[in-house]
Amino acid sequence: MNKWLLLILFSIVCNQSYSSALVELNRSEDFLIIKSHIVCFGTEASSELCTKISSDIQTLWSTPSAQIVFEGQSFEVRFEITSEYLSEEQSFELAKGNRDPRINFIRIENSAPSQADPYDDEEPLPMDTTLYSYVHEIGGNAGFYIKAQVASGVSTSSHEFGHLLGLEHPPFYQVPENPHIMLPRYTYDGDSVRILEGIVDAEMRAVHPLNIASLQIVKLGSQYVLGFLNNAIFDLNGNIRYKKQKDNQ
Ligand SMILES: [Zn+2]
Repeated sequence: MNKWLLLILFSIVCNQSYSSALVELNRSEDFLIIKSHIVCFGTEASSELCTKISSDIQTLWSTPSAQIVFEGQSFEVRFEITSEYLSEEQSFELAKGNRDPRINFIRIENSAPSQADPYDDEEPLPMDTTLYSYVHEIGGNAGFYIKAQVASGVSTSSHEFGHLLGLEHPPFYQVPENPHIMLPRYTYDGDSVRILEGIVDAEMRAVHPLNIASLQIVKLGSQYVLGFLNNAIFDLNGNIRYKKQKDNQ
């Protein structure tokens, strides 16, 4: 996981501009709305599943009704998550010209062959890593979701959404009785694997006030945003088919 994290951090430094969510501030009534739009595509995507994903995200992230302090003012944080199902080609065309900070491109498949043994170590990991959802970059606007995880449960899509908003896994953790949403299903530090499942049901993960308070709102021109746009489009195997060039950002 560490080499991925370093790559991710490097990418954030190099690419940070634009966003993956729009933040609308209501200063007079002390609340803000985080607006994201989930575009689903891929072999296992459907309008119904995409609606479930956006609904799950909105429900879990809205549950704590937590506060965030921004520019010296405390805001109640609300979420408005919409969705739409598009073909791969429609998603591809939309990504090429996308400047909408709300849009996230989510491919949905049964497995991600490109994620097989991502650490290339002598000892194989004790789980099939092709069956785990992931995002292209922390804070980016592209994800590859495994249907079995997002169709039957509610926590995976909300965990990955946290990544899209810019949140990372906690570096070290004890699994608490009430795990927060950014606890991973597994971690690997180069020596050992820790798996959440078997210790606590990953579906017990919930958005806690600390997750909300950790969001880093950025002012970009006249807009307030979270994360950045890389407009990456995954192919069927989980590799990047298209990504906006840095000099266009
Ligand atoms: Zn994660």
